[in-house]
This record gives sequence, C-alpha cells and structure tokens, in this order.
Amino acid sequence: MTEHFTFDELTDSPHHPGMVAINRQAALTDMVVMDGLRETAELLELIRAAAGRYFHRELVVRVTSGFRCHQLNALVGGSATSQHRLGQAADWYLIDPTDGNMVDPKLVFGWLVLSGLSRRWHQCYLDIRRHFIHVGVATGREDGQWWYLLPNGARVKEV
Ligand SMILES: [Zn+2]
Repeated sequence: MTEHFTFDELTDSPHHPGMVAINRQAALTDMVVMDGLRETAELLELIRAAAGRYFHRELVVRVTSGFRCHQLNALVGGSATSQHRLGQAADWYLIDPTDGNMVDPKLVFGWLVLSGLSRRWHQCYLDIRRHFIHVGVATGREDGQWWYLLPNGARVKEV
C-alpha cells in the first residue's frame, strides 16, 4: 500500500488464520476499504517516520489488526461502527529491530499524543491490557481524540 506497509499485513489476522482469505477477499472487492487501507498505511508511515526521529533509530511498526470484515470483526468482538470495518484503522506496536523487543507502549503512546500528529487521526488509544495502540484515520469530524483504555474498559487521559 505504501513503502513499509503491505496489503497482506493490513488484512491479516494472526489469531484467526482461518479467516484471512475471506477477510482479504472482502477487502479486495470493496473500493471504500481499499481507500481506507491506503489512508491507514499513509498514517502509519507518518507515525513510523516521526517515531524514528524521536527515538533516534529506525523502528518497525508491527500491525496486529487492520481491516476486519463483518465476520472477523464479530469474532474479535469489535464494535460494529469500528473504523477497522472500513480499513481505516490499525492496531500496532513498535519493535526495536536491534534486539527484537517491543518498545514500551506507554512510552510510545506518551510520545504520540504530544507528537503533533493528532490532527491526522480520528481516535487513538493505548490498550493497557493488550499492549497495542489503536489509530484510525481522520474523518473531518471530532478528530484528534485520544485516551488510555483500562482493562475494565474505562477511558482515561492519564495512567
Ligand atoms: Zn483497533
């Protein structure tokens, strides 16, 4: 889709491998989803580049969930109105390729909300329990939202 993000990773489902072919077929046959995936990849490129400058090394953005077709979204318990349904969101974390370790998601999220990129996203949150950051592309309405998602489902601005 872009230099560092492929269609395959943005339509993958590591936890539901049996759904991947169905999910990809649903994406390929929907122009709205394909546009959404391109926008998501472009947003991830911005984040990747900014993170590299901030952390002074090239980091890998590992996507755990991008587009989710109706069936896959139901399987993972996603909201019916989730931007994932349109390919407009990704869950991800950063990996430092020098040691293969995840960069502390709290550190990454704390940087991200102050990075100046908030106008580029609609919603962005850190899932404290599952250690990923969700980001959805800007929609032109109520963009720039962010919060920490606690294990009990509460949305808070600090942890
Ligand atoms: Zn998400």
